[in-house]
Amino acid sequence: RARTTGFIGLGRMGYEMAYNLFSRTLVESGGAARFVVCDAREQSATEFVNNFHTHFPGAKIEVMTSPADVVRASQTVLSMLPSSPEVKQTYTTGDGGILSGLRSLPSDDVSSTFCIDSTTLDVKAAKEVSASIHEAGASMVDAPVSGGTAGAKAGTLSFLVGGTEDEFRRVEPILAHMGKRIIHCGPSGSGLAAKICNNMILGVQQIVVAEAMLMGTKFGLDPAVLAGVINSSTGACWSSSVNNPVPGALPDKEPPCTRDYEGGFATRLMEKDLGLALGLVEEVDGVATMGAVAYEIYARVMEAWPQLATKDFSSVYAAFATLAEE
Ligand code: NAD
Repeated sequence: RARTTGFIGLGRMGYEMAYNLFSRTLVESGGAARFVVCDAREQSATEFVNNFHTHFPGAKIEVMTSPADVVRASQTVLSMLPSSPEVKQTYTTGDGGILSGLRSLPSDDVSSTFCIDSTTLDVKAAKEVSASIHEAGASMVDAPVSGGTAGAKAGTLSFLVGGTEDEFRRVEPILAHMGKRIIHCGPSGSGLAAKICNNMILGVQQIVVAEAMLMGTKFGLDPAVLAGVINSSTGACWSSSVNNPVPGALPDKEPPCTRDYEGGFATRLMEKDLGLALGLVEEVDGVATMGAVAYEIYARVMEAWPQLATKDFSSVYAAFATLAEE
């Protein structure tokens, strides 16, 4: 069990992260490491195992049918799930959840168990889940990521970690197999809080860049000229210089708008993250006027154009442009 690492949730991010983690751990261990995987969609787990075997034929890797079985088999458990309900179900409330698995283990095995959840979820829910895992005698950190699917595939993600100093020291070498920057943000929940603050800025920024680009191009400015001015001036930001939403604005780059907004960071995920920001702002008794407006805008865009929900969130520009034509 000490040699086994488990991964739960092999979706767009989890698949790539698990692949990097397992392949590098396997090489580092001289072939001794073992792995288990689990996904609500069993086919995803089977596909992962088959692909891993193709590249590492002798690897010891198995599909587990429940998170409880994952934790019974492995000392280190990682998860990358959609959001709060799935994390609660996987860890604490589900019949076959991690907590029920921990309860069936000898106490030495429980205390050596380390859970790392990289899902972007509600801070309050994450802290509650972490408290239950700690009460049971195991360790847990929140370690959400930034860097998207490209960063997950390249192994260059940034991990924002919430946990104790000791937990951070133990988790750092594991996360280094999947990312370049591993940052200790503070106690449990802090990694998520930092991630949610950053994404609220991003969500607002992308909207105002879309508005300004639309205003300028409707006036008659060439999108590349306008983007060039913004990107060498004080309005420059990631949404204008990397993720510019107007085709032709960044002639040397290929942002999602050059492929009809396919790939990138889905609008539905940005709306989710802004919803989490509104939950956090309420919890700290703060104010986030712009965050609330941005949440409303993404929600309404998806309601009017459901096809944009899975496209990159810079596709709000396409929605604004359509409205401007009406
Ligand atoms: P995804 O929907 O592609 O993957 C989620 C996976 O979890 C799926 O394979 C699903 O079958 C599985 N799953 C769902 N419920 C489960 C359960 N109860 N038990 C086991 N498996 C379960 O999502 P994703 O794009 O990989 O994102 C995962 C998380 O990472 C989200 O919280 C997202 O906000 C965050 N994130 C995503 C990106 C991105 O660019 N996609 C970037 C940064 C952070």
